Amino acid sequence: MTLCEPRWRLPVYPMSDELIDRLAQLEAALRDLIEHQIGLFGPGERGNAPGHLHVVPGTWDDDPFNGPLAGQPCAWCKRWAEISSLLV
Ligand SMILES: [Zn+2]
Repeated sequence: MTLCEPRWRLPVYPMSDELIDRLAQLEAALRDLIEHQIGLFGPGERGNAPGHLHVVPGTWDDDPFNGPLAGQPCAWCKRWAEISSLLV
């Protein structure tokens, strides 16, 4: 049993105008952040976040500079993909 099963879901209540305004502000701030990053580094390529050039998209390259990060998922690329997909 998981918390996502229907019987564990809370009933849906209408959002307050204040919450709607705050969510709109959050969305605008995230869009500004994305545009700023794209302005600085370009749009990102092949699934990487702007400014990241991993050979395997979203994964730290296997080279001496990355040390123990090599082969590990890149947290920024992952977060970038998540946020970008939410704002489509
Ligand atoms: Zn990355």
